[in-house]
Amino acid sequence: MARQPGAVMTAAGLCRGLDTLYAVPPEHRLDDVDRASARQVLGCDDHTLSTLLDRGLPASGDPGEERFDSRDLFNLALYSGTGTTVPEQAFAYSLRWMRSSTEELLAPRASRFALRIACAADTCGPRPTSTLALPRPERCGGAVRDLTVEDADGTAGPSGDPGDTVTRTASQLAVTATVHTRGELAELRSPELRAIAAEFAAMDLRWVKLPEALQNDVDLVTTHGVASCDSASRYLAQLCRRAGIPAVTRIGWVVGMLDLVHAWVEVEDADGATKVIDPVFALFSATVRDTNPLLRDPAVALRTNRLIPTGLSTGRAVAEHRCADEPTAARLTTKILPAPTRPQEGS
Ligand SMILES: [Zn+2]
Repeated sequence: MARQPGAVMTAAGLCRGLDTLYAVPPEHRLDDVDRASARQVLGCDDHTLSTLLDRGLPASGDPGEERFDSRDLFNLALYSGTGTTVPEQAFAYSLRWMRSSTEELLAPRASRFALRIACAADTCGPRPTSTLALPRPERCGGAVRDLTVEDADGTAGPSGDPGDTVTRTASQLAVTATVHTRGELAELRSPELRAIAAEFAAMDLRWVKLPEALQNDVDLVTTHGVASCDSASRYLAQLCRRAGIPAVTRIGWVVGMLDLVHAWVEVEDADGATKVIDPVFALFSATVRDTNPLLRDPAVALRTNRLIPTGLSTGRAVAEHRCADEPTAARLTTKILPAPTRPQEGS
């Protein structure tokens, strides 16, 4: 039976993608996906999957019963250029806001924020603690209202300065708040800083899904040209600091991108102002059509109204649970939705 033209184009795209795939190293492989699920992620037929295996797509197991690493499949599909795979479509959908006008990216925004962690065990162990990072939008001209912290014993608003994280002796913990953010567009003044931003953009890095153990690995940036939000931000902050420019990494959330903990860099420019450089959105904006060009302009710092910072740097977690005196698996849910605007807070 003749194969559909679409199947042939998908196969060609996936084969090209395989040539540039950064494969998860053997010591970090999960091999958590079977052939049927692999075909779904890649949007391909069984013939194409066999072709990819012949061409070196990493897998374990007997022929016909192979198992794949989900991160490999995701990254392969994302950079296949077919436009039809699940990862490509999910990406295009969750990044469609990058097409917004500059005005829309800067306007005041109110979001309902809810973060919840719960021990994953059926019965939580002794001496449990749960920790959540708090949103700190006041770091960049925003504000938090109606902050509540709720554990199994009930609800209580934190008194005084809530700090960067909240910890309770509890098997579960939830934080809710209304978070007000605003964007900012600033020119980069320091010539050294502009040169670093341009140098970073010219590296043409690829954002990829990486095993947790490699997400902070700055060496992968220089040796393989691949980065997570964490490693891209660490690398860029390093370049700044080596040039004598004060820079720190920051983690936080992005309104509209659920379950993604994002990372970016905060630099002190020659005019003394702290500016946000977001290395990963510059990379993303190359994969989505018609994005706002300011998102990848190395001469400006665009902090969008979608960024909700924590007070934490990369390497820290936005949520942690411990019981029986060790870190324990936990379920984390993140919801950030548009808040109904109230007249007295409207612009
Ligand atoms: Zn527990």
